[in-house]
Amino acid sequence: MENQPKYIFVTGGVTSSLGKGIVAASLGLLLKSRGLRVTLQKFDPYINVDPGTLNPYEHGECYVTEDGAETDLDLGHYERFLNQPTTQANNVTTGRIYQSVIEKERRGDYLGKTVQIVPHITNEIKRRIKMLGRTGNYDIIITEIGGTVGDIESLPFIEAVRQLRWDLGRENSLFIHLTLIPYLAASGELKTKPSQHSVRLLMESGIQADILVCRTEHELSRDLRNKLALFCNVALENVIECLDVKTIYDVPMMLLEQNFDDVVLKGLNMPVEGERDLTAWMSFLERFKKPVHQITIGLVGKYVSLQDSYKSITEALIHAGAFKETRINIQWIYSGDLTEENIAEAFENCDGILIAPGFGDRGVEGKILAAKYCREQNIPLLGICLGMQMMAIEFARNVLGYTDAESSEMNSQTPNPVISLMADQKNVTHKGGTMRLGNWKCQLQEGSMIREIYDQEIIEERHRHRYEFNNEYLDDFDRATFHPVGINPETGLVEILEYKNHPFYLGVQFHPEYRSTVIEPHPLFIAFITAASQNQSSK
Ligand code: GLN
Repeated sequence: MENQPKYIFVTGGVTSSLGKGIVAASLGLLLKSRGLRVTLQKFDPYINVDPGTLNPYEHGECYVTEDGAETDLDLGHYERFLNQPTTQANNVTTGRIYQSVIEKERRGDYLGKTVQIVPHITNEIKRRIKMLGRTGNYDIIITEIGGTVGDIESLPFIEAVRQLRWDLGRENSLFIHLTLIPYLAASGELKTKPSQHSVRLLMESGIQADILVCRTEHELSRDLRNKLALFCNVALENVIECLDVKTIYDVPMMLLEQNFDDVVLKGLNMPVEGERDLTAWMSFLERFKKPVHQITIGLVGKYVSLQDSYKSITEALIHAGAFKETRINIQWIYSGDLTEENIAEAFENCDGILIAPGFGDRGVEGKILAAKYCREQNIPLLGICLGMQMMAIEFARNVLGYTDAESSEMNSQTPNPVISLMADQKNVTHKGGTMRLGNWKCQLQEGSMIREIYDQEIIEERHRHRYEFNNEYLDDFDRATFHPVGINPETGLVEILEYKNHPFYLGVQFHPEYRSTVIEPHPLFIAFITAASQNQSSK
C-alpha cells in the first residue's frame, strides 16, 4: 500500500527504568536525521487517565504538550531529541483507554454485546496507535509500551500490538525489546539468562522480538552476542549494545556506531538510504562536552530529592548552557529548609536562582524568602509558575506593604489574595485535566527586557496552573516597577512580571522549560544563564 506508515513497538524486559524512552527517542532522532518523518508515542499501563494527578515523587515530572495534554516525562525526551512537538495522541494510559470504552458502552455503541478486554480494550488500543498513522504526517511511528513484559497491566497492550503486526502486515512493523544484561561482580561475568527469559515471556504472548537492545555496564563480547542471538532467536546484527554512558545525549551516537537505524530500516523493509544530517546535534554535543565557563544555579523547590521532578528545567538549563559554552552545576535547595538565618549560606555559591513550579503550601515560605533575598541582593532570579506567584507575594508583602498577602491556594480566606483563583476555576470540583493547560498567547511590552529576550511581540508558551495574578493589584505592582510586561491579549491575565531595579528578576506564569530542545535552546533560559554568568564575573 502507498503511504502505509511503518510501526515500531518498543517493549522492556527484566526490569523497569532501563531507559526505553531515551532509546526510542534516540532511534527517532537517527531516523529523522535521514529525512524520514517520525513520531513517538507512549502507552502507560496505569489506571490514571493521565499523570496530571500524580505526585512527582511517583513518576517524575508531568510534561505538558502544546495542545494541553498532561503527559509522562518521556514525551519531553521525544520533543527535546526530535525538536518537534507531540500532542494529546502521543501519550495514552490504560485509564484513558478504559474511559473511552466505558463511555462508548454507556452511549450504547456496543448495545447487546458483552464488553471485554479482548476485543474491545485491545481494539481501542489499536485505534489509538493507528490514529497517528492516519494523519498522513509520518513515515514511521514508534510506540513505546510502558512497564515491563510480564506485568499483568501490560498484557492488553502486548496483545494489541501482537494483533497489529498481522493487521498491518509483517513487513510494516518491527518489535524492539530493550533488556538488561546484568554484570555479576563476584564472578566478573555478564549474564544473558534474564534476557532469554524475558524474550521467552514475550514469545508466550505471541511476539518474537526482532531486535534486542541490551543495556549493559560492560561491552558485550562476540561470544555473548552469539549466545543472545542464538537463544533469543534474533539475527546477530540485530543484537545492539547499549552501554551505560555519561550523558543521555551520547546514546544516539552510541547506537549510530552500530548502525542501529540501518538495522531498523532493513527490518521494516525500507530502503537504507538518505544521508544522515546530525550537524546540529553534533555541534550541541561539542559545546556541551567542552564548556569554557561554568556557573552554579540554585534550584529552589520542594521535590528536590527526586530530580526527575524537574526534568524539563534541568534539561533546559543544559541546552542553554551548551549554547553559551557554559557548564551548569545545579545546586538543589529544598525550600522547606530555608530560613532568614541560613539563606545567605545556602545561596553563597549560586550565581543565579531558579524558583521551581509546584502545588500546595509545603515549602512556599522558603520560596518567598528566596525571592526576597534575590531581590535585595541583586541575584539573577527566574521564577516559574508557582515561583512567579511567590515572587509576587513577596513583593506585595515587603514592598507594597500588604503584609498579609497570600495566594488563595495557600489561604482561601486571605484579605489580600494577590494570587487568586480565576472566576472560571471557582466552580471546578474535579482535579484531573481542569487546570489552564497548554499553549496560550502572551503579548510582550515594548521596551521591556523580556521583549528583547524573545525579540517578538506575541509569544505562545505552555501552561499548567489554576491560580493567577490578581489584576486588582496590577497598578500597585506597575507603579513600584515590578512591571507586568507580558499579558494574555484575550483575557488580560498577567503572564510575566519583570522588576526594573534589578539585573534580572523575572517571573513567568507559564513553563518555558517545556519548549526548550537540544538544538533550539529557549531564549529565556539563555538570558537567565547570561545574567548568572555576569553576576559571577562581577563577584
Ligand atoms: N500551584 C500553582 C497553581 O496552580 C502553580 C502551579 C505550577 O507551578 N505549575 O496555580
